[in-house]
Amino acid sequence: MPPRDPEISSDVSAVRKTVVDIRRDLHAHPEMAFREVRTAALAARRLRALGWEVTEEVARTGVVAVLRGNGPRTVALRADMDALPIQEIDRKSYRSGTAGVMHACGHDGHVAGMLGVAEVLARRKKSLRGTVKLLFQPAEESPGGALPMIQAGVLKNPDVDAIFGLHMWNDFPVGRLGVRPGPLLAAADQFDITIIGRGGHGAAPHQTRDPIMAAVHAIQGLQSLSSRMVDPLQPIVVSVGRIRGGEAFNVIPDRVEFSGTIRTFDPKLRKKLPQMVRTIVGGSARAFGAEFEMKYTMYYPATINDPGMAALVQQVAAGVVGAANVDDRVQTLGGEDMSYFLNEVPGCFFFLGCRNEKKGFASPHHSNTFDFDEAALPIGVETLVRTVEAFLAAPGPARR
Ligand SMILES: [Zn+2]
Ligand SMILES: [Zn+2]
Repeated sequence: MPPRDPEISSDVSAVRKTVVDIRRDLHAHPEMAFREVRTAALAARRLRALGWEVTEEVARTGVVAVLRGNGPRTVALRADMDALPIQEIDRKSYRSGTAGVMHACGHDGHVAGMLGVAEVLARRKKSLRGTVKLLFQPAEESPGGALPMIQAGVLKNPDVDAIFGLHMWNDFPVGRLGVRPGPLLAAADQFDITIIGRGGHGAAPHQTRDPIMAAVHAIQGLQSLSSRMVDPLQPIVVSVGRIRGGEAFNVIPDRVEFSGTIRTFDPKLRKKLPQMVRTIVGGSARAFGAEFEMKYTMYYPATINDPGMAALVQQVAAGVVGAANVDDRVQTLGGEDMSYFLNEVPGCFFFLGCRNEKKGFASPHHSNTFDFDEAALPIGVETLVRTVEAFLAAPGPARR
């Protein structure tokens, strides 16, 4: 770990106002997944002005920027750009100007913060001990822009040795950072099941194959995944959020449909789950003479931080906000497609606390009153800049 460079802090202070201005501009002009045209153009224009090599229209609306310093290794940073289909309820000057679209997850802060990082690093290019690549990613909220960016080759040429990124985090007060080794966010998968029986009169159930009874047993059985079939020390959540079957109180229907989500941290367990669900649902259906169909959809994998890279960010974060303000236990069953990058190269994704009740910033992410304390932005910028420099300064050969 190199000694802390006080110059970085003053370089970060110098870009603070610009970062806030950009963030408010982006907040007022939110764009949905794969439509981040204005956002991408703004980022590209600014990056070029700062001397970065810029490639646009990567995986449709993504932007990649490269700054070559003097050293063999390459480190990447990732910021997602998309907003959500939510109508903002607020009177602030920078409220969304687009009906039904809102930056309700803080991705405006991610883009603005990364442009702040770009400016600080450009100023420090002479002393930069390697190459930095910035990835402005579309469509995190869904259907996912990380995987198409990887398929477009963003981790190659120059080959990326490590990747870092952050998420604004309203569960933490401003001044607190969440940096955890291992799994941080969960894999979020979906099952859609149809139980097919044979309907009939509610008074003569023996003439039917009751799909409602089969579905009830299947859903109860699915809860025993966590209580009986998976290691109790292994986190798993099974939630059925939709069920539909039947029309009348005295008619047994032909079919029942239900859907749910399964959240896990362990990739090995995740792989086994479709078969486990199939066994439980199939057994329940057969017990009532019914049949079933299942669709199991794997979405984003779990977001898993490399322990060494997490330790590096923890050290850096402790230097920025103090060790007492670095939480190494935070974990959530939400999902993130940063996971795809972290499955390719070692790295660390971390949470940047941005709640401030006194200033009225306390709404949860994805709510129509979401906003955050902009005092978090320079903390994020400084942590990312210091992480880049610490990684590039650390001994060790390039990965390739
Ligand atoms: Zn979100
Ligand atoms: Zn988000």
